[in-house]
Amino acid sequence: MQPMGQLVVLLLLCLLAVALPGAGGRSGRFWHITDLHWDPGYEAAVAAGRPCPSAGDRSGPAGPWGSYVCDSPWNLLRSAARAMRDRLATPDFVLWTGDDTPHVPNEQLGEEKVLHIIANLTSLIKETFPDTKVYAAMGNHDFHPKSQLPGKGHRIYNRTAELWRPWLSDASLPLFRAGAFYSEKLPGPGTRGRMVVLNTNLYYDQNNETAAEEDPAGQFQWLEEILTNASRADEMVYIVGHVPPGFFEKKRGKPWFRRGFNERYLGIVQKHHRVIAAQFFGHHHTDSFRMFYSSTGAPINVMFLAPGVTPWKTTLPGVSNGANNPAIRVVDYDQDTLQVLDMVTYYLNLTHANTMEEEFPVWEEEYRLTEAFQVPDASAHSMQMVLERSWRVPYYLQLYYEFNSARYDLEPCDQECRVDHLCAIREVDFTKYNECVKTNSSASAASSVWLLVFCMFLTFLSSQRAL
Ligand SMILES: [Zn+2]
Ligand SMILES: [Zn+2]
Repeated sequence: MQPMGQLVVLLLLCLLAVALPGAGGRSGRFWHITDLHWDPGYEAAVAAGRPCPSAGDRSGPAGPWGSYVCDSPWNLLRSAARAMRDRLATPDFVLWTGDDTPHVPNEQLGEEKVLHIIANLTSLIKETFPDTKVYAAMGNHDFHPKSQLPGKGHRIYNRTAELWRPWLSDASLPLFRAGAFYSEKLPGPGTRGRMVVLNTNLYYDQNNETAAEEDPAGQFQWLEEILTNASRADEMVYIVGHVPPGFFEKKRGKPWFRRGFNERYLGIVQKHHRVIAAQFFGHHHTDSFRMFYSSTGAPINVMFLAPGVTPWKTTLPGVSNGANNPAIRVVDYDQDTLQVLDMVTYYLNLTHANTMEEEFPVWEEEYRLTEAFQVPDASAHSMQMVLERSWRVPYYLQLYYEFNSARYDLEPCDQECRVDHLCAIREVDFTKYNECVKTNSSASAASSVWLLVFCMFLTFLSSQRAL
């Protein structure tokens, strides 16, 4: 071929590449829902003029679709299911990251009641997506007594496995019974995607069953094997779980994992990051994310924390006004590489919904990640850009902050808030998180001192002039 001809072919190829964005892989979509927390006593209590069971001794306005001091009434869950069907009825799969029961004392629940609640929510999801694969993870509230999930076989694991039988492969069943975790190849022919569903409740600092163990249920060792095999088989993996590592962004210095478990988890992600396409967790009820870095500080992985369906205001001491609007999320991804391309979060403005006389309130689109934060996709690299923009630009910090509670809390995110959120996003490691908080707090303290000195200097100058 003549040089001129080669140039034309090259040009045509370039034009084709530009005209067909994403031609390298097929894009798919899936739902991520979490923390449904059904309060079965809501309707009866509200009808009788009493506070809902999950309100405890708190009170607040309660309407047909829920209340910010309460867990979800059934109506809210039905409405969420309907919104999911309307928005995307045939996703590739659904991630459901646990916590089904109301925030009430253990004495008001019991094993049968917990299982009854899990069964009802399982039915709701099955009816909403009858032919769809659902990857379900247990939450710390899906057990009795709550958070005490053992690192060995248990009848609640057996019963939950039966409820989720239609979603579990034959190979997953014995694993689930032994520790409530499993791994499966993603559906679809020729896929190189793999889902790993973990039981990270085993690492929760409220769990006394596993406190003294080094590797409860052998889950860490199993995870390392799965990731090593995935690498050999050229697979890419999503890691899914309920309780995340790292810190709660709404309460300074509040981690969820015990220190040793946090270190081990972080070490595994750092070692195997090349096969981990992304991580999806819940438990916070807030919308946030966590960054993972290499030893040289390069962003190597990201964990997305999906906002909860329950609007329940947390009773965690030190968190002020910690409620959220109910929210659900669609993730756009590359079916070949599993790269996360985008995320769209939908939410129900609960205050608004309760004042309208509608049969079905509208779950509005809250935001599309790439549009809101002006990034090309939801890769670790792009999420690092979201983090850096939120550090530097007050507009992005405030945007992130309003999404954090699905637009429930619209107060300005002040300096303390900024440090709490951004250090939690950046540092999953205990020591580094503490350093981040210390450095940035003292930086702000130092800048206040300089401001004070400067003000005194100005006062001095003006007093000189006055003389
Ligand atoms: Zn929860
Ligand atoms: Zn939880």
